[in-house]
This record gives sequence, C-alpha cells and structure tokens, in this order.
Amino acid sequence: MAKIAYQLRPPETTTMSPCKLCGSSSPGGQACSDCLCLQLEALIRNKGAVVRWTKSVKAAAEDEALILKYAQRARK
Ligand SMILES: [Zn+2]
Repeated sequence: MAKIAYQLRPPETTTMSPCKLCGSSSPGGQACSDCLCLQLEALIRNKGAVVRWTKSVKAAAEDEALILKYAQRARK
C-alpha cells in the first residue's frame, strides 16, 4: 500500500520512467499504480475497496502538492 501511495504522487514531484510491468509512465520506473492496484485487488479480492482507497490517496497527494505550491509562492 505504501508503494501504491508513492506511485500515486503527482508526476511533477518525481522522475518518470516506464513501469517495469506494463511499460506505462511510472514514478521512478517501479511498477505503476495500476499494476500495483491490480495485484492488491487480486490479493484481497475486493476491487471496490482498492478503488475507493486509491481515489482518496490520489486526492490527498494532489492536495499536498497544491499546498506546497502555495507555500512556495507565499515565501517569495
Ligand atoms: Zn504498470
């Protein structure tokens, strides 16, 4: 789950390389969030829970990036 949260960070905060499983763009060239989520869904056999959790992690990551952007702007 920590790996997925890491992979869901906005692209501008990380270096993007191809996912080692599906080849789509992924932070740090690790397995992308899509591939990791599929693995997690299969593991717990509950797609809905994974989708809901992923959405909230993604929203939190985006909010964090936005706040950091404002903080940077306020410092100038
Ligand atoms: Zn992938």
